[in-house]
Amino acid sequence: MMMIRPFKKLSGVSAIMQKAFAASTRIYEVLDTEPKIKGDAQSWDLDCIKESVEFKDVWFKYEEAEVLKGINLKCRKGEILAIVGPSGAGKSTLVDLIPRFYDPQKGAILIDGRDIRSLNVGSLRRFIGMVTQETILFNDSVKDNIAYGKRGASYDEIVDAAKKAFAHEFILNLPKGYDTFIGDRGVKLSGGERQRLAIARALLKNPPVLILDEATSQLDTQSERLVQEALNSLMEGRTVFVIAHRLSTVKHASKIVVIKDGAVIEQGTHDELLAQGGSYKRLHDIQFQA
Ligand code: ADP
Repeated sequence: MMMIRPFKKLSGVSAIMQKAFAASTRIYEVLDTEPKIKGDAQSWDLDCIKESVEFKDVWFKYEEAEVLKGINLKCRKGEILAIVGPSGAGKSTLVDLIPRFYDPQKGAILIDGRDIRSLNVGSLRRFIGMVTQETILFNDSVKDNIAYGKRGASYDEIVDAAKKAFAHEFILNLPKGYDTFIGDRGVKLSGGERQRLAIARALLKNPPVLILDEATSQLDTQSERLVQEALNSLMEGRTVFVIAHRLSTVKHASKIVVIKDGAVIEQGTHDELLAQGGSYKRLHDIQFQA
């Protein structure tokens, strides 16, 4: 009689093994994926940016259709370059080429005149911080989500970054403060709070080059103001590529480029472009004054 239960349990083992086997096949599929972007053996480490990040006649397509068609633009060190244009124009694709999520089929992106394909990919990515609309947060504590920006960050550094990102207050109001778990993808937080955590993470990383994709109108006015202030403190003193949806950002940008159907159709300062009365002015009137 005593043997019945152990035997019953044994029959369950096969089901567990089957599940584990199926899961491990999927995990190894991911682990074994060969990265498409590889550095070559002679690649050099990026240690500073002295002058500029430049797109030189960059052509790119995901599949058949050309998405970027001969992009030329230059962002000098410390400048804010705002990218505006209708949805589907290629703005996200353009900024994704800077950390080499993809490589252009023709043309090149240059840092201080040198092709980024000759750089060590790891060193290039350490120089770049990204804050996009899709914030990648993990089901871990607030503290560890921010610390993801910098390996071995101290508690004080984390709190300091959170303060600069206007996130400290709401974090203290969470049940366990900095030790609160935030759920898968941060589901327990509001949109504005998630974004401020992402900004704190980027502040902690302290990258010289910053890529921003500003959130659109899902935020209420109060959190939009906080996110905007956090972004302002993040942009300070960095070379910034920002996909801009807000008037305040484009006004402060050193230069604005207007992208349409994968090509730069206008570039200049806010005032210059408004005076031209071209498509920037039309976009501006539609997007920003409504
Ligand atoms: P924007 O940021 O200006 O809205 P995107 O760069 O996201 O524009 O998209 C430009 C074009 O590239 C669109 O036609 C889009 O459908 C296409 N596209 C974007 N990402 C991918 C992808 N991963 N695979 C295939 N096509 C894509």
